[in-house]
Amino acid sequence: MTAQDLRWNRVREIRRRGALERGRPFPVGHPRLALLYPAPYRVGMSSLGFQQVADRMSDAGLGVERAFADPGAILTEESTSPLSDFSLVAVSVAWELELPDLVRALARSGIPPLARDRTSVHPRVLAGGPLTLVNPGLLARIADAVLVGEADATAATAAAALLRDVGWRAVVQGLPGGWVPDTSAPPAPARADDALLPARSRLATPEAEFSDMHLVEANRGCGRSCTFCVMGSPGHGGRRDVPLERILASVPQDARRVGLVGAAVSDHPDLEDILLALAERGLGIGVSSLRADRIAARSGIATRLRQGGMRTLTVAADAMSERLRRSIRKGVREAHLLASARIAAAEGFEVLKLYAMIGLPGEAEEDVDEFADLVGRMAAIHRVEVALSPFVPKPHTPLAAAPFAGVTRVDARTRRLAERLRGRARLRPSSSRWAWVEARLAGAGPEATERIVEAMAEGGSFARLRRALGPDPPHWT
Ligand code: SF4
Repeated sequence: MTAQDLRWNRVREIRRRGALERGRPFPVGHPRLALLYPAPYRVGMSSLGFQQVADRMSDAGLGVERAFADPGAILTEESTSPLSDFSLVAVSVAWELELPDLVRALARSGIPPLARDRTSVHPRVLAGGPLTLVNPGLLARIADAVLVGEADATAATAAAALLRDVGWRAVVQGLPGGWVPDTSAPPAPARADDALLPARSRLATPEAEFSDMHLVEANRGCGRSCTFCVMGSPGHGGRRDVPLERILASVPQDARRVGLVGAAVSDHPDLEDILLALAERGLGIGVSSLRADRIAARSGIATRLRQGGMRTLTVAADAMSERLRRSIRKGVREAHLLASARIAAAEGFEVLKLYAMIGLPGEAEEDVDEFADLVGRMAAIHRVEVALSPFVPKPHTPLAAAPFAGVTRVDARTRRLAERLRGRARLRPSSSRWAWVEARLAGAGPEATERIVEAMAEGGSFARLRRALGPDPPHWT
C-alpha cells in the first residue's frame, strides 16, 4: 500500500468515527491549533480533562482540532490535517507512561520531541494535564510552555498568546501555573475557580471507553489521605463537590447515558439524589469506581446505579491485607468488601470488579495469601474480577520515598496470587515492566525525558527504556 493509500485509510476512519459523535462539534476556524492526546481515540475521548480544555479553547474562539495517537498517520479529527501543519500543538498528559507515547507521537508527525531541536518551521508545544501535578519537570525539555495544575481557566489564554507569538512568554508566566521551563523553576499548581466546575464532555461516542456517555464531573480532588495516592496530595487542594443542580444542568437534553467522574464520587453528599434525578430522566448511568465502605453504608447508591443500567460494580481493596489497608489509611475493611459482594449479588450486577495493588512497602507473602482468601470468600457470594497493578511510589505522597518492589518480586507474588485464585476469580494483572518504567519516571528529573527520547528513537522497547533509565536507585533493592 502506498503512503497516499495509508493516509486515505486514516481519513476515511476519522470521517467514519466522526459521524458517530454526538454533541456540540468543534468548528474549524482561525487561529487554529491541534490539541493532542498521546493515546488512542477511545482513551482520549474518555478523558474529561482533555474534553474540558478543548471545550474552553473552542468557546474562547480558537479553532481547536483534536488529535489522537492512533496507529498510522496522526491527523486531526476536525480537518484531517497533520500536526506539522499547525503552529501550535497543545498536549494533555495524564501520567508518566504517556510520556513515551507523546515522544513517539511528535516524532511520527515530523516534530522534534525536544524543544531545543525545533526551529521556526516547527510548531510550538504547550503541555498540561494531571502529570503536571505529580512531576511537571518531565515535560520541561519537550514543551515550550507548561500549565501546571488545573488549566480550565488558563489554557485558552496561553494558547492564544503562543499563537500570537509576540510576547507569549510574559503572558504564560503571568498565568496561575504558567511556566516557561527554560527560564524558571515550576510554579505552584493552579487551582481553577469553583465557578468553572463541573468539567463536562462536549461530545459522546460509542467508540470511547466510556461508550456513548456524556461525562460530568461530580467532584474534583479528594478529602481523604491514602498514603499512596496523589489525589490526597496538597496540589489537589482537597475535595470540591459540584452542587447537584449544576451537575444536572450540565447534562445535555439529548444525552442517553451519563458518566459521573471524580476520584471521590461516592463521597458526594448528594450522590443518591443525583442518581435518582438522572434515572427519572431515563438516562443510563456510569460511575468508574466507588468506595466499598460508602456502598455498604448507603445501599441506595448501588440500587440506583443498577437501575441506571450499570452492569459492573467496581470497588478498591488497594492493599493485600487488613494490616496493609490500615497502614495506607485506606479506611476500607474486609467487612466492607464482603458487603460489596453481597450488594452486587442482591442488585443483580453481572460482576464485582476489585482493584488491588501488589508490592506495597512491608508486604509479605502472607498478605498475598490473605487477599486470595478474601477474594475466594467474595467469589463464593458473587462473580469477582481482580484488576491488579503494582504499587508505584509517587511524588508528593507520604510513600514518595518508598521503594518499588521490583519486577521479579511483583511477578512472583502475582503468580502466587494467580495460583490461589485459579478457578475462583479472574485475575487481570497489569505489566510489572511498565510499572517499573512508571516508577523510574515518577521521581525523575527533566534529563530522564532526554533519555526517553533517545530510547524511543531506537524502538522504545522495554529493554531499551530500561537501559536508558539506568539501574534501580539503591533503596529499591
Ligand atoms: S485512594 Fe481514593 S479515597 Fe484514597 S486519597 Fe485517593 S482518591 Fe481519595
